[in-house]
Amino acid sequence: MNALRSKKTLALVAAAVVAIPSAALAGDGHHDNTQAARQAIKGGQARNVILLIGDGMGDSEITIARNYQVGANGRLAMDKLPLTGAYTTYAVQKDDPSKPEYVTDSAASGSGWATGRKTYNGAISVTPDGKPQPTILELAKKAGYRTGDVTTAELQDATPAVLGSHVINRDCKGPDAMATCAVNDKVNGGAGSIAEQLVQTKPDLLLGGGKQYFDQTVKAGQYKGKTVTQQAQANGYHVVTDAAGLAAAKGDKPILGAFAKNNMDLEWVGPKPTRTGTTPAKCEVNTARTATQPHLVDMATKAIDVLDKQTKHSRQGFFLQIEGASIDKQDHAANPCGQIGETVAFDAAIKKVLEYQKRNPDTLVVVTADHGHTSQIVEEATLGYTATLITHDNANMTISYATAEITGSQQHTGTEVRIAAGGPQAANVLGVTNQTDLFFTMKRALGVR
Ligand code: MG
Ligand code: ZN
Repeated sequence: MNALRSKKTLALVAAAVVAIPSAALAGDGHHDNTQAARQAIKGGQARNVILLIGDGMGDSEITIARNYQVGANGRLAMDKLPLTGAYTTYAVQKDDPSKPEYVTDSAASGSGWATGRKTYNGAISVTPDGKPQPTILELAKKAGYRTGDVTTAELQDATPAVLGSHVINRDCKGPDAMATCAVNDKVNGGAGSIAEQLVQTKPDLLLGGGKQYFDQTVKAGQYKGKTVTQQAQANGYHVVTDAAGLAAAKGDKPILGAFAKNNMDLEWVGPKPTRTGTTPAKCEVNTARTATQPHLVDMATKAIDVLDKQTKHSRQGFFLQIEGASIDKQDHAANPCGQIGETVAFDAAIKKVLEYQKRNPDTLVVVTADHGHTSQIVEEATLGYTATLITHDNANMTISYATAEITGSQQHTGTEVRIAAGGPQAANVLGVTNQTDLFFTMKRALGVR
């Protein structure tokens, strides 16, 4: 082979090597999806409804996690739901509920999807004038469905709280924290703190953090002098505090799993953003994570197993909410790897749910967020704080947090967010809907009034 010929061969080989990744980065939208979309549209009633809330998981947070974990043309489990739409998330102003509050918090948005009514930021399933509104979990339970509420945050945090409690301020998490909720305080004849109300509503599973509030002492009524945990036990709850206890729980009694004093520990750690950016780096597993805490996928799997077993021989199935809570919390903290690790852990729970749905197609699965958040994929250092990560594509991705100082808390945003679904009634997420519409979709799927 002469020199010229061999040079040409090398050039061809090089061209081929370059061509492979660019082909892999192209989409496969050349398939006609009409038939698949037609088949995905199913009316009628569902036996089960599984709702998955990624707190603060806007399109930007999803894209960041996808790029990092599976690459720009990869697909997360949550990307595989057959029907996708968008919904608006705004709250209403407390002083004038006829006006929108364009940026919601998890309390108002949660009250929206849980009760079908808009309310003010900080409200837990009460109207702007403080009246309790029945929630989808309460309605499902009343109609004979089994129920579960699972989170990586404190169980008294807004998202899990909106399903089983009604207070005028989200901070009223335990009997010692009622300063802003006098009207709800047991001492004043109210239904009590979020912790007390959750165990009174009595879902079959309450799994998450927030043990410190269950350990507070009830101030009035039948359980005065007992802790909320003891109140739960007196009401039939089996209480577990670690992964081994959860795994061993039979599910013949309702399970209260409180696995951390506050929020549960983070999955990943990584570089902190700066004004001028960071050297490209990869995220790492959080070795400081408490080993005895279950992961979200463990809690989700246990919840599905227990609820499925409990409903094997009954006419009604179950309603289950599963929250990836610290996507939001780490977005507030401008912690890209923290945020991505929680999104990936949430996606692992979604994968389990979709496997269950495959075996039980009469299950409505909805994956959505409660509101958008700060993080953005940008070209270079911004006026805010940036960090650069090396993704699955072996490419650099720069993430910006620019709605607060690094010492402060980054802000929620008022954008619409993705809502994706599969199963009976899933077509109701198509187009642009309102967050409150989700309540009616789930209600119709369960056939409850
Ligand atoms: Mg939340
Ligand atoms: Zn938040």
